[in-house]
Amino acid sequence: RQLSKSFPITKGMWGRTVGHVKAVESVDLQIKQGQTVGLVGESGCGKSTLGRCILRAHEPTSGEILYRRADGRVVDLAPLTERQLRPYRTDIRMVFQDPFSSLNPRMTLAEIVGEPLRVNKVVKESEVEDRVATLLTRVGLRPEYLRRYPNAFSGGERQRVGLARALALDPRLVVADEAVSALDVSVRAQILNLMRDLQTDENLTYLFISHDLGMVEYMADEVVVMYVGHVVETGPTAELYRRPHHPYTEALLSAVPNPDPNAAKRRERIVLRGEVADPSDVPSGCPFRTRCAYAQELCETEVPSLREIAPGRRVACHFSEELGLRGIEDLGAA
Ligand code: SF4
Ligand code: MG
Repeated sequence: RQLSKSFPITKGMWGRTVGHVKAVESVDLQIKQGQTVGLVGESGCGKSTLGRCILRAHEPTSGEILYRRADGRVVDLAPLTERQLRPYRTDIRMVFQDPFSSLNPRMTLAEIVGEPLRVNKVVKESEVEDRVATLLTRVGLRPEYLRRYPNAFSGGERQRVGLARALALDPRLVVADEAVSALDVSVRAQILNLMRDLQTDENLTYLFISHDLGMVEYMADEVVVMYVGHVVETGPTAELYRRPHHPYTEALLSAVPNPDPNAAKRRERIVLRGEVADPSDVPSGCPFRTRCAYAQELCETEVPSLREIAPGRRVACHFSEELGLRGIEDLGAA
């Protein structure tokens, strides 16, 4: 709730602070238990920073991270000390983007997947290997792989190892940051399907961070669209894809490739003018106005607040009701 994170920009050998990058700016979002929230936006929009703040891998500058525990109590994770955070560290885990650099090449799978079990002392040392073998089976790898090193495996297999490591502590929320983006297209679907199966079996909740709207459509129940640190639109996936209410969402949807090979025409692509706004120098008024084809005078002076325009639909645009934006089907039939 109202979560913000800014990084100082420093200059010179004394590290004088000359400005701030507002990576995440007053973000409100909700992730319901057992659901997948897809967090989308171009690279540099603050998605990863937001994910890391939720894990407290980054310290939020302000705001709350309200976490409903299994016993129903709600705790704000933002102000907790490292020691106070410890019990929650096992509940919220991360799957990283790059299955090549996120696994230590000098460690065996038994060591990699067993590490969180050892660090958090959740099972006796004598039981770690059995647990790891079970975890490997759960992600579709053979338990005999225990003694092998990451370089013996393909990208898809390594990401399975990454998932096994994330699941080792029976988490409730998994933050997956571009978890399959580095993989070959041919193995992406396998890993996404595995993630979906694991979600059902383990009652997992996902924050699925991706720049790929096609994957988000496949994975997410709810979508949150970010632009330079701001949430600009949220809603249930199917509805948001059918009828976007923010010009930025409309443009992102227009770039999703049409999966139907028989489609008469390609999707009409909306090319955004200019570059992504600089998060250290966000424009006045609407942060999207420098690229928005619909911008009007008001957009220069007034920041649009994220307002609820229909049950479950929120948008930060002054004119969304009047624009008649096109969804993925309208764009496809262009
Ligand atoms: Fe475009 Fe104005 Fe809406 Fe911002 S508020 S998205 S500039 S129309
Ligand atoms: Mg990122």
